[in-house]
Amino acid sequence: MSNAGQLLFARLEGGEQLTEEERALLGQVREVVRQRIEPRAERLDVEGKFPWESMRDLNSLGLNGVFIPAEHGGAGFSYTCYLWLVHEISRGCASTGVTWATNYHAIAPVIEFGTEEQKRRFLPVILDGGLGALAITEQTGGSDATAMRTSLRPDGQKVVVSGEKVFITSGDVADLYLVFGKWSELGGGKAALSALVMEKGTEGLSVVRKEDKLGHRASSTVALRFEECRVPRANLLCGPGDGRRILLGALNRSRPSVAAQALGIARAAFDDAVAYVNQREQFGQRLVDFQGVQFELADLAARLVSVQALMVHVARLVDAGEPDLGIEASALKLLASDLAADAAGQNVQLHGGYGYIRPSKAERLFRDAKLTQIWEGANELHRANIGRAFRERRE
Ligand SMILES: Cc1cc2nc3c(=O)[nH]c(=O)nc-3n(C[C@H](O)[C@H](O)[C@H](O)COP(=O)(O)OP(=O)(O)OC[C@H]3O[C@@H](n4cnc5c(N)ncnc54)[C@H](O)[C@@H]3O)c2cc1C
Repeated sequence: MSNAGQLLFARLEGGEQLTEEERALLGQVREVVRQRIEPRAERLDVEGKFPWESMRDLNSLGLNGVFIPAEHGGAGFSYTCYLWLVHEISRGCASTGVTWATNYHAIAPVIEFGTEEQKRRFLPVILDGGLGALAITEQTGGSDATAMRTSLRPDGQKVVVSGEKVFITSGDVADLYLVFGKWSELGGGKAALSALVMEKGTEGLSVVRKEDKLGHRASSTVALRFEECRVPRANLLCGPGDGRRILLGALNRSRPSVAAQALGIARAAFDDAVAYVNQREQFGQRLVDFQGVQFELADLAARLVSVQALMVHVARLVDAGEPDLGIEASALKLLASDLAADAAGQNVQLHGGYGYIRPSKAERLFRDAKLTQIWEGANELHRANIGRAFRERRE
């Protein structure tokens, strides 16, 4: 990429919004991704193997400490820094990126809503490099998560958890699970939604099946069963029926995070396309010398920096403690994931037949990108969420 091309991204990606310490860590992570994590991505994808080595590399930098508050032994870095880290790791390996991000998705509600006692018990598990899983989706409750059926029944000092979850990232390897269900004494509606932390090895918790996926093949996705799992009542976040509030708070953190992951995939696809069109020649010239190809790169580059800038904007709202950012989070998730799908599709197109042959980076990114439009709220839901905000009341 020419200097002018690099400059377009450099100012934002250099992390001018970050502290010196955060920038230094981002630089270290970039190096580890470039030298160790990205070179493994293709093999792990082909073999469908969990990225243990890559997670160990991240843990050797104490990376989970980034989002653990300083008073609990973490670095307590900004959410802006966290999002750039997700972006950079996913740029090298989308599966590793989402595995790391899922640790945050699972523990963020404990940080935001947990008691001091709960934080003292659970945060060290993740700080020490443990894995987290966020268990919301069920067969009956996908896009409409509130239609979940998992039951949380109080029994003295215990809560008995019964039900099944599907599509749970890291569900077979997690040390801690943040589980949503319905408080049995509050009926079957949204008002019954509640959340608790379940620990690895809880009796009655089992993996029903591991999914074989189109993309993100190195990240693990499983169906879980809870058969009368007895969890200490002390693991309940807030009170019975507080789950909806916790869920909305969790989504405001996880949606921008999934957007950062999609942006990392988009950036990787763009880089791959630029490298290819600069070396592939047809009709006696490089592909990059055709104006039609330049226009395609221009549109992708302009969209990339715009959505990156939106990501920084949303991150700053989170860092400023703004509670009401559902629409911004939806806009970011929608734009970032559509861009990932477009950039990855365009990259395959520019590679011609070579982009359609396995294994290649272009086809892996294409498969990885698709998921970003489906999970964390399918994009139709985000469009609806944004569109509804402009509906005026009629008397
Ligand atoms: C690989 C993978 C990992 C995942 N990880 C996790 C995880 O860690 N934890 C977790 O809890 N969940 C996880 N999920 C679940 C994910 O969030 C859901 O798949 C997603 O919310 C969609 O739910 P669904 O699959 O049941 O689709 P459905 O709800 O059945 O929707 C199917 C399609 O219908 C359309 N649609 C639905 N509702 C509307 C609407 N209102 N308007 C217009 N169109 C609509 C959309 O096109 C949507 O894609 C994961 C999923 C996958 C595939």
